[in-house]
Amino acid sequence: MSAVLELTGIRKSFGATPVLRGIDLELAEHEVVALIGPSGSGKSTLLRTINLLEPIDDGRILLRGEDISDPRVAVDRVRARFGVVFQHFNLFPHLSVLDNVTLAARKVHRVPRARAEERGLELLDRIGLAEKAREHPDRLSGGQQQRVAIARALHTDPEVLLLDEITSALDPLLVGDVLELVRELAAEGTTILMATHEMAFARDVAHRVVFLDGGVIVEQGPAAALFANPREPATREYLRRFS
Ligand code: ADP
Ligand code: MG
Repeated sequence: MSAVLELTGIRKSFGATPVLRGIDLELAEHEVVALIGPSGSGKSTLLRTINLLEPIDDGRILLRGEDISDPRVAVDRVRARFGVVFQHFNLFPHLSVLDNVTLAARKVHRVPRARAEERGLELLDRIGLAEKAREHPDRLSGGQQQRVAIARALHTDPEVLLLDEITSALDPLLVGDVLELVRELAAEGTTILMATHEMAFARDVAHRVVFLDGGVIVEQGPAAALFANPREPATREYLRRFS
């Protein structure tokens, strides 16, 4: 197994409150891992530390063997290797859909506009929103906006996609299309680490499920096995609430 991402002993406190208490986690090439756990268990913080949005107190993060938790690392260059989508789509309201999708490529990666737009239109086409390219985001439904946010994250060909509860803020009717897109990306071999409350989706799409509680990994395993046969009482208790 070649690890794309390798976390060792990650610790993080906010003030006196420990939030991540020694996380070891590996993500292999093409692997899809679902991060589940109660609200406040540290899922978002973990995703944010990986993308260097949150400094860690202890531990090490390797991205294809490179220590990206080294304080001397070029943060922007590292962030450019991840695609990140949050619960709230964070599209720029004053920019067109296409400009939202191409902005990072143009500004951070210095891709010429014509080439960035060609790729942007391809991505919008694949998510079925090519005809919305010149609209502003507020003309789109929440589900469409979230798919645009995913297209934006994909535009720079990230090595790992980090998804933080990307359907939690959506009208339940709009969740399906977003999950379908993630399912397609997973099937194409995209390496994905996703925090989610969609248990059925995690079971279907993730290769591995990691249950986080109180800042520690309580249990992890192949999705089918973990859902069918949780070993730890905390996991059982958590999963019972979704069945
Ligand atoms: P989850 O995503 O699993 O719901 P979070 O990572 O958001 O959990 O939060 C874990 C804990 O860290 C919570 O107790 C939360 O209140 C706390 N926390 C998260 N971000 C901050 C912050 N910037 N400052 C202080 N506490 C924070
Ligand atoms: Mg969260």
